[in-house]
Amino acid sequence: MTVRQWAADLVSDTVTRPTPSMRRAMAEAEVGDEQRGDDPTVLALERRVASLLGMDAAVFVPSATMANQIAVQLHTRPGDEVICDRTAHVYNHEGGGMAGNAGAQCRPLSAERGIFTPAQLDEALRVDNEVYPRSALVVVENTSNGGGGVPWTPEESRAVVQHAQARGLKTHLDGARLLNASVALDVAPAVLTAGFDSVTLCLSKGLGCPFGALLGVRADLEKTARRIKQRLGGALRQAGMAAAAGLHALDHHVERLREDHGRAARLAEGLRGLRGVEVEPVRTNLVYFRVGRGAAEAQRFLSVLEERGVRMGHAGGNRIRACLHLDITDVGLAAALDACAHATGSL
Ligand SMILES: *Cc1c(COP(=O)(O)O)cnc(C)c1O
Repeated sequence: MTVRQWAADLVSDTVTRPTPSMRRAMAEAEVGDEQRGDDPTVLALERRVASLLGMDAAVFVPSATMANQIAVQLHTRPGDEVICDRTAHVYNHEGGGMAGNAGAQCRPLSAERGIFTPAQLDEALRVDNEVYPRSALVVVENTSNGGGGVPWTPEESRAVVQHAQARGLKTHLDGARLLNASVALDVAPAVLTAGFDSVTLCLSKGLGCPFGALLGVRADLEKTARRIKQRLGGALRQAGMAAAAGLHALDHHVERLREDHGRAARLAEGLRGLRGVEVEPVRTNLVYFRVGRGAAEAQRFLSVLEERGVRMGHAGGNRIRACLHLDITDVGLAAALDACAHATGSL
């Protein structure tokens, strides 16, 4: 199979390639045996991310999916119920792990653009009676991907966290794109994590690392989190090479997320000028829009883009997603807009 080179690949913010300086940092990393807790670069990254997130500890894991799966197991028992938006990654994109790994079931909410309120949470809460599942955990996704890359403000998430805690529920923040939210809202990440029992941060989305994520936890959960990580096969050996990429990204790839947000806004603006395209409001690096009337037209639109070297993702029905990231320059953006203009002309 040959791998296609794209003029602009906007299918996901996971498609970024490590930069030459990130690769150098990885190659030169000081390493040890991570499972034994003596890889100095992993330890440095864990300390740095714990402090960034305002959590007591952070556990390095291969992926944000694993971080979320550890969190669900930390906060639930089999038969318990997890409340999250119906678009949530933990519900839709983790291979059924909530049920398969934790034995928990999901109570999905239909929130406006992924942001739910204490009142919506209330409606989903179960009465404490043995015929019902136990409402155990609330998961907030910031930014909400399916909601359109929408950031939860500190006030919005604090209201949900306080409501959940007052009713005895645990709270997990899936902050795979938390730094996009932090940059867009101009608030420190630790302000957005306040009160949560655990927090996922992904290194391989906008931050541009080849893999890796962290689970921030309270001190009393750290040991159990590390045991579940071991059980899932997430303990690594000379993982300092991966952690070095994370440290490099935190030094060099956070402030530049603004560039992605700026290009996302410009892409949306360009799309709004095209006939038959309906663009959702853009808040961070994700651009969602609708073309034509149904899935068939969306597919045709996408294949015309692909003929012109531009890739975007099908988000169901006539909805399309474009992600801006480290590897999309102004040249790539222009190519994408050009291809979209051409593709709408052929609908
Ligand atoms: C991508 C994503 C994840 C999973 O990240 P991986 O590192 O790819 O496993 C989790 N949550 C959200 C919101 C995501 O977008």
